Amino acid sequence: MTTHAPLADLTDDELTAFLQDQQGAYDRLRAAGLKLDLTRGKPSPEQLDLSDALLELPTTTKDRAGTDVRNYGGLEGLPELREIFAELLSTSPAQVIVGGNSSLSMMQATIVNFLLHGGIDSPRRWADEENVRFICPIPGYDRHFSLVGSFGIEMVTVDMRPDGPDMAAVESLVRDDPSVKGIWIVPTYSNPTGAVVSQEIAARLAAMPTAAPDFTIFWDNAYAFHHLTDDEAKSADILSLAAASGHPNRAIAFASTSKITYAGSGVAVLAASEATIAWYLKHLSMASIGPDKVNQLRHVQFFGTAQGVRDHMARHRDILAPKFAAVDAALTDELAGRGIAEWSRPTGGYFVNLDVLDGTASRVVALAKEAGIGLTPAGASFPHGHDPRDRNIRLAPSFPELDEVRTAMAGVATCVALAAGEQVAA
Ligand code: PLP
Repeated sequence: MTTHAPLADLTDDELTAFLQDQQGAYDRLRAAGLKLDLTRGKPSPEQLDLSDALLELPTTTKDRAGTDVRNYGGLEGLPELREIFAELLSTSPAQVIVGGNSSLSMMQATIVNFLLHGGIDSPRRWADEENVRFICPIPGYDRHFSLVGSFGIEMVTVDMRPDGPDMAAVESLVRDDPSVKGIWIVPTYSNPTGAVVSQEIAARLAAMPTAAPDFTIFWDNAYAFHHLTDDEAKSADILSLAAASGHPNRAIAFASTSKITYAGSGVAVLAASEATIAWYLKHLSMASIGPDKVNQLRHVQFFGTAQGVRDHMARHRDILAPKFAAVDAALTDELAGRGIAEWSRPTGGYFVNLDVLDGTASRVVALAKEAGIGLTPAGASFPHGHDPRDRNIRLAPSFPELDEVRTAMAGVATCVALAAGEQVAA
């Protein structure tokens, strides 16, 4: 491993030489005419191929109870699939609904229901509140932020740390302000930092006093089973913790097979207290006579059991882990020791979080674009796309092939070094 001298320690002459080197490297990069994309966390075609047996399933038209899956009905989802997810999420089948292909849709429906009908513990509908505020740990998932933003919900940020959100900040926000109605949490291998919420922080979230009786934890466990190493994180059981703290309806959990089987044709899951499940289904019954049970049955047949899901995830890991290693290797080679960048080494999930020198993230993204490397816009992981320090970049290495990840990341490292050199020299 090469370790470089910190940029801040270079003499003027050394800095000039460094900038020239980086400019030369960047000119060569641009001349290479690349066309690479590290923007969105999509499974690669090779990963999608792992699930192609789905295309031959289901082999029957009946579920275990003899229900014809081709017909209407069964709003809560197929019992056998609810059982599989209940085991995976450490809850009971009665607390699980299996829906369509998108957990994000379930999150949106949940929020719309709170807005237009109010929740079980709501004194009134959220739409009748003077103000509704959500706590948004940053950096976080851009679509969580745009979803609540689209309804005019105000976003209040707290820092996301390696073991969860800054709890002192969260507890003080919820204690006295009844307009603070919710928090986004991606508890396992969070998007984008890879953080895993500790048991202790989950317990504090479940137990903390809140001014709003209907304060809700949106526990988006999108990456619960998406391990990259043997150090497999186990998600805290937020539903039991909330129930044990006397707040049974406080947490609603979401997950999906978007990054397990087919991103566009998977199945999504909502897990919550039985009362919340009844509340959700009552409103869902106005929108649907039943989910796509044919797709649900083929997922049941494809996985077999909860262990089948875990075994399948090991095959994804074999494809993904080398790409994450390539990201780390490229950044380490070019940037280690220079004091101009820090990045995550996630043990699961879909992203690497790259923090560059303050004020240079937009420049890095622009330089990369100019060289044919697509990066997520700087600031994407912040409410309204605004990173106050302009330093955060989310890298998504899953989709390109391994060689492309290597090439793209060497290029990104050059852009980071050039932007930092420009800034320090200015
Ligand atoms: N939640 C998180 C944290 C995600 O990163 C993503 C996709 O990137 C989703 C949800 C989308 O889930 P789904 O495909 O089930 O709608």
